Amino acid sequence: MEGFLSNCLVCGNTPTIKSHLIPRAMAREAQVGKAHAVTREPDRFSYTQSGLYEQNILCAACDSKLGSMENVAAQAFRKIRKTAKTLSFGEYLLNGVTGDSILRFVCGVLWKYSVASQENGRIELGRYKDILRDVAFSSINVPPEVDALLLRLKRGQSDDEVFAYRAPKPDRKEGVNGYRILVGGMFIFAKHDRQTPRGGALARASIRSKPDLPYAVVRAQDFEEYRLSAKLANSDGPLSKFLDQQEKQ
Ligand SMILES: [Zn+2]
Repeated sequence: MEGFLSNCLVCGNTPTIKSHLIPRAMAREAQVGKAHAVTREPDRFSYTQSGLYEQNILCAACDSKLGSMENVAAQAFRKIRKTAKTLSFGEYLLNGVTGDSILRFVCGVLWKYSVASQENGRIELGRYKDILRDVAFSSINVPPEVDALLLRLKRGQSDDEVFAYRAPKPDRKEGVNGYRILVGGMFIFAKHDRQTPRGGALARASIRSKPDLPYAVVRAQDFEEYRLSAKLANSDGPLSKFLDQQEKQ
């Protein structure tokens, strides 16, 4: 929309700039695209490499605020991938990274998708839209309804790679509503629900208000994110469909 001056949806300032939905560094880490450099749709390929973005949602200052949280998350996920390379399946802590710093990052990604165009995979957060925005852009305490679970999807012994990323997809786990996201080789289940999860991993290993970051190392093959990417990697279809769009329900 050239020539159209939008106000930043967070602070109201103009102008707005290009904001990447999936953080750029994390989109690039998804090596999966490289194997598919030959494609019938060259435009779509380059599109995928740089990731989807919105032009009219954030000013430079607000985008860079998200950017610094995204860097913290990208670094933490890199550390986890490296450490998890030699770890067996189980639950662990990443020292020196708070749960809330990663949770604010997750809220930022979800909020961006809630104000994205339909075409880019807009999600409906309802009353949580403003709550997630405030968690991401201000220093308010994270309310108990908002939490997340972090899983390193490992494909086999000494795997430290990123095989794909995936935009947020609505889901329900352990009795609570939320979204599943795949970035930086990590599967994230982000909950926003007043219900307390019924036992299980969410109750045990969720990241909210934790001084060190809890995560679990799990088998990638047990997740649809891995199965879908493996299936697509073996077909001729454009990978960008998987990478950039929400699964059609
Ligand atoms: Zn702003």
